[in-house]
Amino acid sequence: METDIDTVLIDRAEIAIRVRELAAQIAGDLATADVRHPTIVPILTGSFIFAADLIRHLPNYVQIRLISISSYPGTAMVSQGATVKGQLTNLPDHLGGSDVLVIDDILDSGRTLRLVVETLERRGAGSVRTCVLLRKQRPEAMATPVDYVAFDIPDVFVVGYGLDFNDYYRNLPDIVSLREEVIEGASDGRAGLPGQ
Ligand code: 5GP
Ligand code: MG
Repeated sequence: METDIDTVLIDRAEIAIRVRELAAQIAGDLATADVRHPTIVPILTGSFIFAADLIRHLPNYVQIRLISISSYPGTAMVSQGATVKGQLTNLPDHLGGSDVLVIDDILDSGRTLRLVVETLERRGAGSVRTCVLLRKQRPEAMATPVDYVAFDIPDVFVVGYGLDFNDYYRNLPDIVSLREEVIEGASDGRAGLPGQ
């Protein structure tokens, strides 16, 4: 798996420092807004590692509601703009005024985050805050409202720290780009598993 890496964009030490810093900022903002019991809504699967790290730096009483959205089927390297597949799960129909913090892995076209925020508001969230690990430097991402961004990155395809390619590489501790041959091999069907 290591040999498939092209460039390390953000290494594990930088991630750890920034996650701690962001959690302190979020905790401060929640305290200012007098939110003591936020409901954390991580968007699966890509945000699971980021969310796990971030929430362990929050001093609040938190409830976790995992949700699942797929805007990114198969081997596609760009979000499929037309469809957001899947549905929200493990989320009460009525949020009863809860203060929600949504956590996603990466802000790309912005479709996922917009859909989730709209849904949470429709289901009666009292407030919705949004947090992403990564935001791509492209107009659609930059135009999407988001409260917290851990890192802005160039418009390149990245994996690791929860983010996948064909459902692999989520366990890489750093955020990296893959070698072109790996991506081409997988998408034209020449390769079976990544790295083979
Ligand atoms: P959006 O709805 O903002 O277009 O897309 C967000 C989703 O697309 C992310 O949650 C992620 O699953 C996927 N995505 C977008 N860019 C990348 C990327 O560079 N790498 C990976 N692994 N997934 C990405
Ligand atoms: Mg995702």
